[in-house]
Amino acid sequence: MALTPMMQQYLQIKENYKDCILFFRLGDFYEMFFEDAEIVSRELELVLTGKSCGLEERAPMCGIPYHASNSYLIRLVNKGYKIAVCEQLEDASATKGIVKRDVVKVVTPGTYTDSSFLDEKKNNFIMSIYLKESKGALCFADLSTGEFYGTSIFNDEAVILDEISKFLPSEILIYEEIDKTLISSIKERFNTSFTSVKSENLLNTSSLKIKEQFKNYDENNFDEHLVISSNVLLSYINETQKSVLGHVDYFTYYQVEDFLGIDINSRRNLELTESLRDKRKKGSLLWVLDKTKTAMGARMLRKWVEQPLIVEGSINNRLNAIEELTMNMPLLDELRDELNKIYDIERLIGKISGKNVNAKELVSLQNSLLNLPYIKKLLSNTESDLLNNTYKEIDTLEDIHSFLFSSLLENPAISVKEGGIIKDGYNEEVDELRKAKAHGKEWIAALESREKDLTGIKSLKIRYNKVFGYYIEVTKLNMEFVPKDRYTRKQTLANAERYVTDELKEMEEKILGAEEKLTTLEYEIFVQIRDVIESHIDRMKKTSNFLSSLDCLCSLAMCAIENNYVKPIITKDNKISIKEGRHPVVEKVIQREGFISNDTIIDDKDNNLLLITGPNMAGKSTYMRQVALITVMAQIGSFVPAKEASISICDKVFTRIGASDDLAGGKSTFMVEMWEVANILKNSTKESLILLDEVGRGTSTYDGLSIAWAVIEFICENKSSKAKTLFATHYHELTSLEGKISGVQNYSIAVKKLKDDIVFLRKIIKGSADDSYGIEVAKLAGIPEQVTNRAKEILVILEKGGVNTSEVSYTIVDSINAKEEVSSIEVVKEKSKKNIKEVRQTEQMQLGFADLEKEKLIAEISNIDIINLTPMDSLNKLYDIIKKAKTII
Ligand code: ATP
Repeated sequence: MALTPMMQQYLQIKENYKDCILFFRLGDFYEMFFEDAEIVSRELELVLTGKSCGLEERAPMCGIPYHASNSYLIRLVNKGYKIAVCEQLEDASATKGIVKRDVVKVVTPGTYTDSSFLDEKKNNFIMSIYLKESKGALCFADLSTGEFYGTSIFNDEAVILDEISKFLPSEILIYEEIDKTLISSIKERFNTSFTSVKSENLLNTSSLKIKEQFKNYDENNFDEHLVISSNVLLSYINETQKSVLGHVDYFTYYQVEDFLGIDINSRRNLELTESLRDKRKKGSLLWVLDKTKTAMGARMLRKWVEQPLIVEGSINNRLNAIEELTMNMPLLDELRDELNKIYDIERLIGKISGKNVNAKELVSLQNSLLNLPYIKKLLSNTESDLLNNTYKEIDTLEDIHSFLFSSLLENPAISVKEGGIIKDGYNEEVDELRKAKAHGKEWIAALESREKDLTGIKSLKIRYNKVFGYYIEVTKLNMEFVPKDRYTRKQTLANAERYVTDELKEMEEKILGAEEKLTTLEYEIFVQIRDVIESHIDRMKKTSNFLSSLDCLCSLAMCAIENNYVKPIITKDNKISIKEGRHPVVEKVIQREGFISNDTIIDDKDNNLLLITGPNMAGKSTYMRQVALITVMAQIGSFVPAKEASISICDKVFTRIGASDDLAGGKSTFMVEMWEVANILKNSTKESLILLDEVGRGTSTYDGLSIAWAVIEFICENKSSKAKTLFATHYHELTSLEGKISGVQNYSIAVKKLKDDIVFLRKIIKGSADDSYGIEVAKLAGIPEQVTNRAKEILVILEKGGVNTSEVSYTIVDSINAKEEVSSIEVVKEKSKKNIKEVRQTEQMQLGFADLEKEKLIAEISNIDIINLTPMDSLNKLYDIIKKAKTII
């Protein structure tokens, strides 16, 4: 049996789109066949049916209505599928045989541009990675806005992951030979889909595409890696969109070092754009700062938060503009009101360029543009560079506004192919056709009465039939009055003659074809209008950029006013000095009145490392994060939550806080912790800011303490480091380093003890904490009293005699068996507690280097392989051990 012609056509097209689901247009439906049908039916829970295809068995089939296809399509794309949309390229009613069909675009997670299904406040990036030997290049594009970024990097997994964490692409283009461990690392951390590009395609690409596409192409910016990476991305865009996108015309080259370096873990820990807990915007820094009024402003602000600046002038430019806005509330209010009326021009430009904009959207553009002259006027008296430059440079696009205003109806139809788009008076032919459509009957009646008057034939009639169309009918009796020069005979009947005139023919044409012609003509004119607008994309992009940036500045100014922030002083003196600083997010959550502010001074000299002790829950993490967030905010160019702040520009911010979610990656919590610490020690400089929270707690006490100790030494004593560091710890032994290691300063978060309870004062004070109060905090958390009481007993025993489990276990049994003894234990405990205080003050209870060295020596002795030592070696070993023992005593 042979396949039906339709199925042959289907299979031929499918052959070229094996990695896609083929949406095959059949009349008012898209139909999927064979495996595609099974996938779609399973994923979208649609009925799987069958279609005769010429073979013995029916082909599995699944269909979705054309008019609702977008919602189905996006659901599949969100699940990581690629969809090839195959359309009918001819009018089926006018075609004999099989209609011509072909794929008109391929929709993938990273190339999807329908704004109704995209998050308007987020970009949708597609990325390409190209690595060769020690170098590489990364490119990112958002087709909905036309942005295209590229950077050259070292072939370093950490750098690649950091960049991915900034852009969060929904699709990544890779090539066959790429290192598979890198791909696994990306997969472990990001929810993105991958598309493989054939290696020969990489090499085939020449720099031609870049030259054609980017009007700012400069070969000095492109090394071999970047040429390949950007070409791969452009080729893929063109292949999937089936056209060259005119709005992707500007290549933004950047270097990783152009912005404050925040690695992937720190980005998460600081909760810059999403909270750690539920990965939502709520609870993040962006959530606090985002008071933007436009979608494009919201996207730009996200970029500002993801990429804080490092250049003093650029930071101050933003700060000065915000200052001016905060001091002129009426201006700020008016600007925000005006911005509120602005549509997402940036994504509209993408639609215009992709030729899928409709008339309603162009009217939204027109309405947005209407506000621009007033926005410009509002800025006319501004003084700060950014605002005044916006005033001077912004193109208010009045010509585009009036062009759209004169050509499009106020409330046009959504569909561009069904008429109802073009305004009266814009095009004569459209006006005529509309008149013809609406006034056809009136015209005929008027013509009839005119002809009656001209000929004097009272019985003259204008009639219509399907065969002849419109005609003038005159009875035989009146034939002699017919004006022969104007009337042409059409038909003779028994008692009447039928005529036409040129005027009647013209009218007939207008009336009969009006509707059809009108829709076709309106579409043609709409396309012309769209093309005219497209030729101004460049100007519109610049304007939308000014508006987005203005929106961000207004947002930050509003936020500063509402939250009582101050303008930070930006310096390069390697000193961060904050007076009455607050955590921008925590103060929002617990209400500002309840938040206790704290001061900070940290530098690369005497205050190089702040060692912070204090009970659990006291607020150590909050305090450390607050210092980092204030620094990040200052470098974004935002005002900060403090009474005063002087912030030296940092090159990088590192955090090692809490558990990472890397467990899935096969690394233990401790391994991850050490990996992160290693990264920090390797990459920090004295311009960096480091937050270390309980480093070393993931292993045995001695190991952990030793590591923490050595890390502190490394940071403070190593000339190449000296990074400003906040170090929170429960190892009270480390507080003895103050005065011994230069730059270490002890701080603690104050608590007040009230009988058995503690009150958190949240104030950071000079000096170390006197206790951990872990058990008191456990009690606050609701741990049963039986457990906390027992914990106290164990603590007493442990603190009294060190780790003697037999004594502890004996007491456990004792306590369970003889409840009445509890009271006596209480007495012991109270006594012991007193003792502990005393003992703690003595040197013996402090863990020191001596203890560590003893431990090492014991380990060394127990590892001696006596059988395999020569007598001479044994003697040497013994000599060595005695020497070490002497140094410890
Ligand atoms: P742990 O050692 O257990 O990690 P911690 O000392 O790091 O605890 P945080 O997590 O920083 O404690 O703070 C605990 C809670 O205390 C916060 O969630 C916050 O609600 C509150 N808090 C912290 N700092 C302040 C402050 N300055 N003012 C008011 N409340 C605060």
